[in-house]
Amino acid sequence: MVDRINVTKVSFKCNNCGKCCRLRGDIVLYPMDIIRISNFLNISCKDFLEKYTITLENSTILSQIVIKSKNDKFLTCVFLNKKNMCRIYEVRPIACSNFPFLILNENTYLVQMVPCVQDFNNGSKVIDFLMQNPRFLSEKKLRRELDELISLVNKKCENLEWCKKIIFKFLYLGYNSKKDVVSQVKRRITLIKVLIKLSVVVT
Ligand code: SF4
Ligand code: SF4
Repeated sequence: MVDRINVTKVSFKCNNCGKCCRLRGDIVLYPMDIIRISNFLNISCKDFLEKYTITLENSTILSQIVIKSKNDKFLTCVFLNKKNMCRIYEVRPIACSNFPFLILNENTYLVQMVPCVQDFNNGSKVIDFLMQNPRFLSEKKLRRELDELISLVNKKCENLEWCKKIIFKFLYLGYNSKKDVVSQVKRRITLIKVLIKLSVVVT
């Protein structure tokens, strides 16, 4: 975890030092990341989760499925190779493709304090950096829907850990790595919303 500050503009250039892929343990995965990376690795989502991720306990957000680190002193991400290159670069998690930025809401971004970020008041707008990633826009609505759903679940299931666990499993597990990413996730979101509305899982 690195320090973060709030910015709108930034001067930033990646030189592939690999620092952002070490000492992390906080690369949280969206369901879309899980399906896409599993497909890229040509394994099932179940195998991907077992082999490459861990689940952290956290009461404020629903998912804490994060990418594993290697057993080295730098806690290097399992996907970083010896040449400081990401083995899953084409399908890297959205958290990685947005790095060093974190999106708080439509107009508020945090930047993580790494050496490649040189100036916090000059340079390009953060949004211009983010727009370079095609998935930033194409899945923006879906990510927002997931964020809102997670916040709703947390509200409805306050003090109901068992309930969160059931929804967590339904939202993050059991996908088919060979099937369409977005439609699978949308279906889960819709079903969870219906369940919450009917109060089937929330008492
Ligand atoms: S820390 Fe910055 S320069 Fe180094 S790999 Fe990450 S983004 Fe690139
Ligand atoms: S998934 Fe790739 S980009 Fe993300 S932390 Fe691991 S090696 Fe770095």
